[in-house]
Amino acid sequence: MKPSLWLYHHLPPVAWSVAASLRAWQLSGRRFGSIFAEAVPQIVRRTGAPAAELRAYQAERLAMLLTEAAASIPAYRGLPVPTAPGDALETLARWPLLDLGRLRANPADYCHPMRARGAVIRLFTSGTTGTPKQIVRDAEAEQLNYAYSEARWKLTAGVDRNDRWAMIGGQLVVPAARRRPPFWVRAWPLHQLYLSSYHLAPEHAEAYMRALAGWRPAYLLGYASSLDQLAAFSESTGIRLRPRAVISNAEPLYAHVRERLARVFGCAVRDTYGSTEGALQAFECAQGRLHVSTDFGVFEILTPEGAPAPPGVPGRVVVTGLTNRAMPLVRYEIGDTATWAAPEPCPCGSSFPVLAAVEGRTDDLLLLPDGRRIGRLDPVFKGGLPIREAQIVQRRDGSIDVRIATEERAGIAWTEAHERQLLRELRARLGDSIAIRFERVERVERSANGKFKAVVRERA
Ligand SMILES: [Zn+2]
Repeated sequence: MKPSLWLYHHLPPVAWSVAASLRAWQLSGRRFGSIFAEAVPQIVRRTGAPAAELRAYQAERLAMLLTEAAASIPAYRGLPVPTAPGDALETLARWPLLDLGRLRANPADYCHPMRARGAVIRLFTSGTTGTPKQIVRDAEAEQLNYAYSEARWKLTAGVDRNDRWAMIGGQLVVPAARRRPPFWVRAWPLHQLYLSSYHLAPEHAEAYMRALAGWRPAYLLGYASSLDQLAAFSESTGIRLRPRAVISNAEPLYAHVRERLARVFGCAVRDTYGSTEGALQAFECAQGRLHVSTDFGVFEILTPEGAPAPPGVPGRVVVTGLTNRAMPLVRYEIGDTATWAAPEPCPCGSSFPVLAAVEGRTDDLLLLPDGRRIGRLDPVFKGGLPIREAQIVQRRDGSIDVRIATEERAGIAWTEAHERQLLRELRARLGDSIAIRFERVERVERSANGKFKAVVRERA
């Protein structure tokens, strides 16, 4: 734990919001400067721009980025450069995939010697393996990152940064061992109530809901699993919120969770797709489609042989960020699997391409004896089963444990018949050759970073 966090946790609770607000004031200045203010209307305009204009914009940014990277950045020195913007995508395809080992060991090799100096922002992120990576952003990249979030995640959902909002997330805003409220802090400069996702126990349902109701947020943003727990708290306490939008981030948003959020909060529910590395962004439109912001980054989906995957065929996601000139990530494989939707116009009016599916690295894939890898299994939990949370764990011997936290729904409690129904659904997808056990739990344990994992495969 950083000494500053230790010190913060030893302040009296009334001082937490003061400290959080000082920090928020500092962050606000860094995120919402003149670059942000200029960029937002342009990004909003491109949201509805014709496809040809978007292609030209991307090609020009990419040509500039590759040219600068090949000239100045150690890891990219000497790689081919486009002769005109029209060649940029073709040239990109000739660049190798980014070497993750080198990025971890020597992040400076990926930094621009001039732009990555001085008052830059250093972020740390750990991927699937838990190995931390350092990402450097300059002031421009930081502000553009927030400008894209504002234009594509908030404005398309009918809210903006001046609205009051509630964030539920994994920052340690109160000590993890704390057993009584408050489990949240107010960050006034950001108009934000930040609630801890670690303390969402049913015994604190009323305290969480009273804090939220008192704040009257225009929107809620956070992990899908945490938002889902707040929806459960709203139902169990009868304390209602009337936000204009619920925005899910960082975790897969399963169909049954989306249904409940829409029902309980009575508003639009929007999914988002992004990463700390700042090289990809996708947003859900009013038609429920996940559009890739190709002006933020080049998004490739590749087959195992490294060719572009056609629509309908899942492949590895490889991204190239277009906004961070201090540390450009070129052809960075983020560890996700995604599938393009068939190219057809979306009624929302956006020409950005649409993803039919994303399987995030948050969830593992199940490995079947016949070699099949099975991803999202959320359809098995639909159909009104009285389940609050469920997790599928594959043991090293290949057998499967289904952990279920049940709850009464519309007067219906969990019975053997539900278990048989779920078993049938699972057998339909996984076959008859592996053992499936059911285990009732109070709450599904979160991973070390506080995220919920719907599918876990134990490794030898
Ligand atoms: Zn759309």
